[in-house]
Order: sequence, then structure tokens, then C-alpha cells
Amino acid sequence: MPVMSSDDFSLHREDCGEFDDGMPISSFPDEVSSIDDLDCECWSEFESLTEVS
Ligand SMILES: [Zn+2]
Repeated sequence: MPVMSSDDFSLHREDCGEFDDGMPISSFPDEVSSIDDLDCECWSEFESLTEVS
């Protein structure tokens, strides 16, 4: 499940260390249409959004 950081609303995996506090979200926001929209390194092992969920 993706986690949205409370600080800057960036999206991360639950086990990512790049955010202090965040809120789990059940699905990606509409703005996220491809894996390239996810900036953090924690997504780099995924090739596409369908692999994440
Ligand atoms: Zn991250």
C-alpha cells in the first residue's frame, strides 16, 4: 500500500525511509498515471504501476 508523506505529500512504499510520518492510501491519486510520476527511489524496482498493486 502506498504511503503519502505528511510533509510534502510525496508517495512512498511503506518501508521507505524517506518520510517521517505519512498516511497509507488505498490507491494512487489521479495525478499518478505512470511509475515515472513517483519520484522516490523506493519505487525504482518497479517497472510499472500495475506491478505495485
Ligand atoms: Zn520513498
